[in-house]
Amino acid sequence: MNKNKRVLVTGGAGFIGSHLCAVLIEDGYRVVSVDNLITGSRKNIEQLISNKNFEFLKKDIVKDSLGIKKADYIFHLASPASPLDYQKYPEETALTNSLGTINMLELAKKTSAKFLLASTSEVYGDPEEHPQKETYWGNVNSFGPRSCYDESKRFAEAMTYIYLHKYALDARVVRIFNTYGPKMRKDDGRAVSNFINQAISEKPLTVNGDGNQTRSFCYVEDMVEGFMKAMFSTKAKGEVINLGNPEEYNILDLAEKIKKMTGSKSKIVFSALPPNDPGQRRPDISKAKKLLGWSPKVSLTDGLKKTIEYYKSL
Ligand code: NAD
Ligand code: UDP
Repeated sequence: MNKNKRVLVTGGAGFIGSHLCAVLIEDGYRVVSVDNLITGSRKNIEQLISNKNFEFLKKDIVKDSLGIKKADYIFHLASPASPLDYQKYPEETALTNSLGTINMLELAKKTSAKFLLASTSEVYGDPEEHPQKETYWGNVNSFGPRSCYDESKRFAEAMTYIYLHKYALDARVVRIFNTYGPKMRKDDGRAVSNFINQAISEKPLTVNGDGNQTRSFCYVEDMVEGFMKAMFSTKAKGEVINLGNPEEYNILDLAEKIKKMTGSKSKIVFSALPPNDPGQRRPDISKAKKLLGWSPKVSLTDGLKKTIEYYKSL
């Protein structure tokens, strides 16, 4: 049924993008994955390369012409996502989310493709409303170490809104909360990847601040299911929808849980909290439940088990 549908995935060799490509291929779509590999890797898509319905283009969505004439759906995920990555590449991040997003919206307009923007819970900044609903406008610093990412994602949302209303583009925005799982880069600096790799190599687990800041962690399979529902449900057109796991953990508890699950003897060490690090974060997902019939199914324990196995296998 999906055989002749062409899907473009930007950031398709990244962590979430590569899982998404695999699911789309399994469902019979023809997939073009575009990625400049700034934070992604060919290894993430190596099982897909030989599939006749899969094509990989090593291109930059800011600077390169993609040469794509037809597309039915565009999932726009390109952008460094971990704080370590986007602070290493602040200019590239800001340009990818601004100019790169405009380029992808233009492509969607030209090809009449349906469009999904992968936005982020970072648009809520250090939130003063808890849990965060889509109606919350956020508390974001426009002039700081996270602003290259937070503000450019906010701009990407605003640009999507313009194309939706000015050009009647069939577009939706999903705001992703912390997602984890196999294929996260070992050195991407995120809490889950750092703690697991530190624990399995018996190195100290590095907790920032006192570890009382909270996050909600969603397993990547659940997240990809949310992406699919948001793109292929007509009800999502014109909507902005939170996707994430509403179970909230503090970071010290996460470190202790990973230490226990890996049977590690590592110590937990504390250092200063980076500037503008949000104090709390938990999605209100009632809109996703109601509109898409989506909610995450994988518990943190099960998801961490699979992620630990993955890192041990590397
Ligand atoms: P990732 O870094 O693994 O993937 C992003 C991919 O985009 C990489 O493969 C990178 O090489 C590619 N890319 C970056 N700039 C590009 C450009 N100019 N042209 C072409 N490709 C480019 O990160 P991820 O965790 O898979 O995140 C995917 C998307 O989800 C991002 O848009 C991110 O902002 C969003 N997101 C992720 C999380 C999370 O917890 N993982 C949370 C919120 C939002
Ligand atoms: N964190 C930590 N130790 C690490 C990496 C991250 O304590 O080695 C903290 C980080 O300061 C933040 C939380 O864990 O408070 C989540 O960080 P991550 O980079 O995973 O994602 P963020 O939600 O900040 O984008």
